[in-house]
Amino acid sequence: MIISNRARVRYAPSPTGEPHLGNIRTAIFDWLLARHTNGKFIVRVEDTDRARIVDGAIDLQKHSLEWLGLDWDEGLGKDGPFGPYVQSERLDYYNAAIESLIRTSDAYKCYCTEERLAKLREEQRKQKLSRLGYDGKCRGLSEKESTELEASSDSNVIRFSMPTVGITVIEDLVRGRIEFDNALVDDFILLKADGFPTYHLASVVDDKHMQITHVLRGEEWVSSVPRHIQIYRALGWEPPIYAHLPTILAPDKSKLSKRHGATSVLEYREMGYLPDAMLNFLSLLGWSLDGETEIIPREDIVKHFDPSRINVAGAVFDIEKLDWMNGYYIRNMETQELGDILFRYWKEFQPKEFERLPSIEESRTVASLVRERLKTLNDAAPLVAFIFRDSIDYDKGQLIQNDMDVQGTISILDACAEALSNIEPYSADSIERVLRSVANNKNLKVGQLLGTVRVSTSGQKVSPPLFQSLEILGKERVSELLSNAKSKLLSMSNN
Ligand code: GLU
Repeated sequence: MIISNRARVRYAPSPTGEPHLGNIRTAIFDWLLARHTNGKFIVRVEDTDRARIVDGAIDLQKHSLEWLGLDWDEGLGKDGPFGPYVQSERLDYYNAAIESLIRTSDAYKCYCTEERLAKLREEQRKQKLSRLGYDGKCRGLSEKESTELEASSDSNVIRFSMPTVGITVIEDLVRGRIEFDNALVDDFILLKADGFPTYHLASVVDDKHMQITHVLRGEEWVSSVPRHIQIYRALGWEPPIYAHLPTILAPDKSKLSKRHGATSVLEYREMGYLPDAMLNFLSLLGWSLDGETEIIPREDIVKHFDPSRINVAGAVFDIEKLDWMNGYYIRNMETQELGDILFRYWKEFQPKEFERLPSIEESRTVASLVRERLKTLNDAAPLVAFIFRDSIDYDKGQLIQNDMDVQGTISILDACAEALSNIEPYSADSIERVLRSVANNKNLKVGQLLGTVRVSTSGQKVSPPLFQSLEILGKERVSELLSNAKSKLLSMSNN
């Protein structure tokens, strides 16, 4: 099904910590639907659970959305016709809805104490009742009883009068028709004793007021549907269309959690994943273009996004697929762009491998050396750090190749140093030609000679392409490194 109308969708994070992959996948689907239909992507902060608020959490949400390029149209610092977009600043709207619901007897004041409710829960557990939760004690209070309780109670909450018979039905975009037995849902709280609304009331009032057309959210919210639909009915409002998104699972099919690795999207940023790869990957967690295409550029995902192609089954988070996809995006990037990205990444995260950080020009130059070898940006520093180090550590064992001895290695170093010092221009091609002919002349295996040069100049047995690396290091530095290696060998042989 293609939705052609301009959808108004909202991402509604609670500022309770770092944005989780599941939250951000919802934000991506919201954004895709908004952009696909030329609609609006709205970000609303749901901060009515005051005890769970974490300082700085809104900034983390903002940062995550910005990093992934999910630009929003209203809320989170942007004005719009239906603001404010922070629930704690919208109490008047909820109070007005409460008044209306009380007037029509769809809501009532409840004076039950915590102790009574705890006892009730205990009894219900023992009796194994099907309708759990509040028993409706205050639902039928007479005026006189209410007045007395009002005078004697410190506080009260407002509850919704849930129908006790019948069914509530929705046509979910992902799951199709879902029916709920009203008798199984208790009279839930709308307004808490602290004067703040619950999620149920605030979400319905805001979705209505902000003219939200489609509510996309995680499947853990399915059980809220009968509550929300009944609030809409009681207020005489039309509900939005719902799409409940499949839970993100770990490869062992359990719910993805910290024990499986990073779950915060900003951790993936720090681990060196690219926003485009992450967006592509996360959009395939539950949605597919045709069931097989994996690499889909952002514009194409927007163009083809269709919420009715979202799966019901849980979506498995496969880190190997993400690594592969990220490597693909890196390999297909212009070298200069990769260099710029590496420069910014290194500047921000200061990899410990570097003695000094590469400049932007140097980052661009080394980008070509590592482009084919990276899964993440984080893989790059260990490969190229030797270029930005003043001293290189290696031991005798590394420097002396198989079947060679100290004298033989020294003579290779001398011959290479001599041959390389005459090269003009000092380019990867001419370096390669010269080193190969040295190997020929000395009757050495090319691999042995190159291995010696590699360890002398990088301190590593594995390094990016050698000839390009030598070109980047430059004639003087290479000659210095070869002579350092020789001194090291001489000092070893003298000991
Ligand atoms: N504040 C809820 C959350 O953090 C939003 C649920 C919804 O989208 O309705 O998941």
